[in-house]
Amino acid sequence: MNILLLGSGGREHALAWKIAASPLLTKLWCAPGNAGIAREAECVALDIADHAAVIGFCKANAVDLVVVGPETPLAAGIVDDLGRAGIKAFGPSKLAARLEGSKGFTKALCSEFAIPTGAYGRFTNAADALAYIRAQGAPIVVKADGLAAGKGVVVAQSLREAEDAVAMMFDGAFGTAGTEVVIEEFLSGREISFFALSDGDTAMALATAQDHKRVFDHDQGPNTGGMGAYSPTPFVTDNIHAEIMAKIIQPTVAGMKARGTPFRGVLYAGVMLTADGPKLFEYNVRFGDPECQVLMIRMMSDIVPAMLACCDGQLKNFDLRWFPDPALTVVMAAKGYPGDYAKGTRIEGLDEAGKVEGAEIFQAGTIAKGGQILANGGRVLNVCASGKTITEAQRRAYLAVDRINWPEGFCRRDIGWQAVERERAP
Ligand code: AMP
Repeated sequence: MNILLLGSGGREHALAWKIAASPLLTKLWCAPGNAGIAREAECVALDIADHAAVIGFCKANAVDLVVVGPETPLAAGIVDDLGRAGIKAFGPSKLAARLEGSKGFTKALCSEFAIPTGAYGRFTNAADALAYIRAQGAPIVVKADGLAAGKGVVVAQSLREAEDAVAMMFDGAFGTAGTEVVIEEFLSGREISFFALSDGDTAMALATAQDHKRVFDHDQGPNTGGMGAYSPTPFVTDNIHAEIMAKIIQPTVAGMKARGTPFRGVLYAGVMLTADGPKLFEYNVRFGDPECQVLMIRMMSDIVPAMLACCDGQLKNFDLRWFPDPALTVVMAAKGYPGDYAKGTRIEGLDEAGKVEGAEIFQAGTIAKGGQILANGGRVLNVCASGKTITEAQRRAYLAVDRINWPEGFCRRDIGWQAVERERAP
């Protein structure tokens, strides 16, 4: 098969690595890709926002399957446009991608199909939103309805913070993403990420994962796109797993089908394990980054037939196998991230780091120039490792991190701490 992967981050490097291992593959391209992806695929300088250009490339190169990594092209309807041109694509349609593209849409779906989630209100003006917040009290969560590059959520500890967030959103801080604001009950408990594939009819759980959003150790500092992740999360017991499938994932797939907008692709549920059971607080419609990196390391089966089964409505009789060994990834970011940071700094030692037992290094924001690998973004490297235990995976990942010579980079030193603590004192 000829496959075209869209995207340029660590998630796409992990997907490219996994797809490249498929015996079904003839040729893999990635648009636009990065320096690490170039080891697995031929990178092409296509503008993925230009759907006609992507379709033209697919026709010229007899592409059999397009795999869409990030959410923006999904929300823009690239899967629909490819489908109309007769090209198979893995990922949800534009209407199904509203599960991520509109928080209000997802909350309404939860109400309609009795999916457990926090109480909420949807608002298109500040006065009503403020009245609701004052009636509910703090802590409370304020969310821009649309896609805001992971920045549109404010978990407000005080009324003042919530009021400021509402004012900021209606003032246009997130552009049209903030013309509607969703105010949600603050859910307390342990937060986990749950992944499932769907072909529109059937849902199949993938492995669980846990990410670390705050920039500094001990979960301090501002939120980021994710500073590390591990899989599986020991906090999703078999019972909780079954409950999430039965009460959240399956009703979502059934609800989307009933509405005439079946969901095909990866469902990534943000779930809070509350005292009243698991509650959904958000959906994403693609793999998480960096959770995808640990999922790909743990996936034993070929991913390509699984993606085809999603496209073709054949998931019902499908099965995926996983390596039992846990995997962990440490994100190395440019100093200053998630604020301002320098680009173009030199990274050395990647080959040595990759030789650590069980280690695999995926590149996110990198560029190759004159035989050197240079940093080209905020989150730059994903240093991954597997091991017999999460403690061993963690030790190996940091062994690999310490072989990388990149003075302008930094990472958290405590990725996986909850699971490591649990291994020490179960
Ligand atoms: P997001 O940018 O949508 O991933 O949300 C950022 C973070 O906000 C999540 O990872 C959660 O930790 C937190 N969050 C979102 N909704 C809620 C909620 N209803 N209650 C508590 N925390 C929440």
